[in-house]
Amino acid sequence: MTRAVIAFGANLGDREAAIASATREIAEAEGNRLVAVSPVYESAAVRLDGVDPDAPRYLNGVIVIETDLEPHALLDLLQRVETEHGRTRETRWGDRTLDLDLIDLGGLRLSDDRLELPHPRAWERAFVLQPWLDVEPDAEIAGRGPIAALRAEATDEVVRR
Ligand code: ADP
Ligand code: MG
Repeated sequence: MTRAVIAFGANLGDREAAIASATREIAEAEGNRLVAVSPVYESAAVRLDGVDPDAPRYLNGVIVIETDLEPHALLDLLQRVETEHGRTRETRWGDRTLDLDLIDLGGLRLSDDRLELPHPRAWERAFVLQPWLDVEPDAEIAGRGPIAALRAEATDEVVRR
């Protein structure tokens, strides 16, 4: 099995409920085993043109699983769970009931039109790095280095719930 780090974010609707049920669905899917669930943090919405203090705030966190799924099959699962939770894809980086990003899959590096690994922006996002650090303090991002050092450099604000 391969260790996978999945980040979740939600800023519309019942955020806690969406995160709880998504975690359960991912954990119970064929080929997956839940390893860790991070604490939940709150963060401001980030738009293409920067932080939007007026937008509904996000709840963020990560889960760690072990999986037998191939990278694209795991992405299929995450997108299916997003869709089940009413996720629509109108605006890039728009408000959403649930966002599930595959951050790292056993250090694999891959880039095609559906999937980029490790996730191309995780290394600079405190709302991913902080919860990840809580559950895997020694983790590294392939090509970027230890997440503890990356977290220290990230400037976006996250508040522990
Ligand atoms: P974002 O998470 O950047 O706000 P979306 O959730 O709408 O945007 O995802 C946009 C596309 O990003 C998806 O259709 C998916 O194919 C692609 N993608 C590429 N790499 C990844 C990854 N590591 N995790 C999740 N989605 C990814
Ligand atoms: Mg996404």
